[in-house]
Amino acid sequence: MSIDLHTHSSVSDGTDSPAALLAAAAAAGLDVVALTDHDTTAGWSPAAEARPAGLVVVPGMELSCRWFPADEPPMSVHLLAYLFDPEHPGLAAERARLRTERLTRGERIAANLAGAGYPVVWGEIVERSGGGVVGRPHIAQALVAAGVVESVDHAFATLLNHRSPHYVTKADTNVLDGVRLVRAAGGVPVFAHGLATSRGRVVGDAAIRAMVEAGLLGLEVDHPDHTPEQRAHLRELADELGLIRTGSSDYHGANKVTPIAACTTEPDQYAAIVAAGTGCAPLTD
Ligand code: AMP
Ligand code: FE
Ligand code: FE
Ligand code: ZN
Repeated sequence: MSIDLHTHSSVSDGTDSPAALLAAAAAAGLDVVALTDHDTTAGWSPAAEARPAGLVVVPGMELSCRWFPADEPPMSVHLLAYLFDPEHPGLAAERARLRTERLTRGERIAANLAGAGYPVVWGEIVERSGGGVVGRPHIAQALVAAGVVESVDHAFATLLNHRSPHYVTKADTNVLDGVRLVRAAGGVPVFAHGLATSRGRVVGDAAIRAMVEAGLLGLEVDHPDHTPEQRAHLRELADELGLIRTGSSDYHGANKVTPIAACTTEPDQYAAIVAAGTGCAPLTD
């Protein structure tokens, strides 16, 4: 069984439509794929309609969160959520708030770039998102199209980096509240790419323990952005804390170099997620 539990479609910042993403999953030989777009469930119903026979689709999401350390500025952290009730009012309201926050913040980044003389137009960036959840990858694509940078990766390394003077932060969900909300909605919260130092600052073990106290059920161990040492540490922590371990590609279509199924989850760990999720069920034949 080949299982990839973290992918993004064009409903957020991937480039494949949900249907194309599922076709790519099947072509890569996956038996199970989770659709985990940022802060939205908009891909769930197109995915249900386009699901190829034999492929199990796990409804999911990646919630934009923050961890508040005692003596440092807040840190961006991502929380995967599986099999939650899409109609749970509290979680639905928080997703909607985050999408609005993304629009306000994206417009401010675009204004900063335009003010510095870069030829980007906010309306065109929103168009690129195709009515989906706007993120920095859409601004990056606009910078590539305008010939300012050579690639989306280059944009992230320079103008859109969190250290760039043009960067604007978003008011993401307190991760402890996020964990509680996902559980309240019957979902399974898993800490995404928790030690990926290539993405910026990362939390320490104390933060992970606090998340577990709030109801966290799993850690994403095998992720393309984790080094072998980071994976080993997360695996140890998962064993010590009795958490589910996942492995996933974090596929974004052409917006990232990682192919779908680049990392995968063990069947027994996937079974633990299915057993814990009560808000909805995986889509199967
Ligand atoms: P945002 O959510 O708007 O802050 O943008 C961050 C998103 O951009 C993350 O979810 C990543 O999936 C994506 N991302 C981060 N680094 C890169 C990169 N080098 N190339 C493409 N996408 C990236
Ligand atoms: Fe993303
Ligand atoms: Fe993420
Ligand atoms: Zn992701």
